[in-house]
Amino acid sequence: MAAKTIFRRIIDREVPATIVFEDEHCLAFQDVDPQAPTHILVVPKKEIPSLAAVEPQDHAILGHLLMVISRLAADLQLDQGFRVVCNTGPDAGQAVDHLHFHLLAGRPLLWPPG
Ligand code: 5GP
Repeated sequence: MAAKTIFRRIIDREVPATIVFEDEHCLAFQDVDPQAPTHILVVPKKEIPSLAAVEPQDHAILGHLLMVISRLAADLQLDQGFRVVCNTGPDAGQAVDHLHFHLLAGRPLLWPPG
């Protein structure tokens, strides 16, 4: 059996994290190495390696994750804006092979990204 990713271990409460939201489909927690004053990771509980690996049956969970991000941004009053990032594959720097969205805010974010 493949080793659990760090996010699976956080979902399973084997590794601690600062959790900001949870429901039956997803978990949101603070990034351990924040790149902005607000840096939250939103991950599905379902084992999906990346955005490149989603299947038609993942349609609803993908929509749900973005709805959760929108609600978090409203709750956190990110009125100056925020950025949602989904690094996918080696060129994008994906380090954890469990689908996740970064929610970044609290400072001006440069464009284009590096
Ligand atoms: P990626 O580069 O795959 O898009 O992002 C992975 C993110 O997971 C990084 O921003 C990294 O800081 C975060 N991360 C890695 N290990 C841990 C951990 O053990 N706990 C938390 N909260 N975040 C982690």
